[in-house]
Amino acid sequence: MRDLLPTEASHMTLVEETFKSTLASYGYDEIRLPTMEWTVLFQRGVGEDTDAVGKEMYTFEDSSGESISLRPEGTASCVRAAISNTMLRGDRPRLWYTGNMFRHEQPQKGRYREFMQVGAEVFGYTGPDIDVELIQICEDVWRKLGISDRIDLQINTLGNLESRLAFRNALVDFLVPLKGTLDPDSVRRLDTNPLRILDSKSEETQNLLQNAPRLTDYLDEPSTKYFEELRRILSEAGVSYSVKERMVRGLDYYSHAVFEWHSDDLGAQSQVGGGGRYDGLVERLGGSACPASGFAVGIDRIALVRDAAGKSADHRSCDVYVISLDSSGDTYVNKISRILREQADLRVRKHHGGGRVKNRFRDADRSGALWALVVGEEEMAAQTITLKPLRTDEPQITIATEAMIDFFNDKLKKDLAN
Ligand code: AMP
Repeated sequence: MRDLLPTEASHMTLVEETFKSTLASYGYDEIRLPTMEWTVLFQRGVGEDTDAVGKEMYTFEDSSGESISLRPEGTASCVRAAISNTMLRGDRPRLWYTGNMFRHEQPQKGRYREFMQVGAEVFGYTGPDIDVELIQICEDVWRKLGISDRIDLQINTLGNLESRLAFRNALVDFLVPLKGTLDPDSVRRLDTNPLRILDSKSEETQNLLQNAPRLTDYLDEPSTKYFEELRRILSEAGVSYSVKERMVRGLDYYSHAVFEWHSDDLGAQSQVGGGGRYDGLVERLGGSACPASGFAVGIDRIALVRDAAGKSADHRSCDVYVISLDSSGDTYVNKISRILREQADLRVRKHHGGGRVKNRFRDADRSGALWALVVGEEEMAAQTITLKPLRTDEPQITIATEAMIDFFNDKLKKDLAN
């Protein structure tokens, strides 16, 4: 598990904040969920046949002998919370969460054992208009983060339960005679979750699947209509996408719309987010039947896409670095610092620890500040401040303290915008 140092952490915060404000702008409510749950929730809610639960969970017994797991994802907890807090009675909540997720995977670029997800789940809507809204929220975020052209949307449909069962039977009939040539994971899935074989990473299995039955041939009329409608609304909204027939997203309770976003910037871990409709899950976790749909996006991976686009956050600890040249000026500079923080909304770091004047300016430079604000005996006597630009060749100036808010609002805000 990684340490996220300030530059990386501030980049993650930027991505997270963009999601938060966008979700809020669509009228979605935040929910905060526990980091750990009873293991059985994930086994039932995500499925033991998925890698995230079957192979990668951090599971342990707590002191009362209960099997507990660090959450590998957020949907199961969100559904549990909605049921156990009676949020679904007479209401149709639209919720979002962020949080650290844990999976015991082999770490590599874009794949970590602890990572951040942002997710949204909506309950009570049969779609497909709400599915498109979920997709649009993410598309808005890509645009705001300047990475729309680096992320592709792929969609598919799994149809309703009847269509999926008919297809599943046809797929099993096709694959059973080929069992000897399938990869071991796919052989196991033949009994547990055959649709997932379509997602197999094995090239031989993918070759065998060339002649497999196609889900589109098994969609009944309501399922076909649903998908047509989804595509129509997406196109009307100006969202570009491609249809990827083999995408099943692993979980056997998914139905109708499934979608994923991919980026070429991430090498093997190209998926940055995904989601879909999961109408069966609420009932499966003990609630009354309730349609639902949602997405989850990996914040770490979105930050990597921005890195690849040359848009890494330019991390600065503060805007202004305040140096008092004389310890008798402390009260004066404290007051100035507070006014700048509260009235000019600036990040102000005050020098501490004394030291030679040269070293104080070195610290000012290292902080990333645009300006050093210097106060000595002369400034105190005249009620002025001296401002030394740290990133340009402009000369230093001395201004009246009472004029400083106007100065910063005008000058510094312009510099910050550049
Ligand atoms: P999933 O819950 O597997 O559909 O994952 C949703 C998103 O979470 C993925 O698209 C990734 O962006 C992110 N994600 C999943 N696993 C990891 C991981 N091990 N490290 C970093 N991000 C991950």
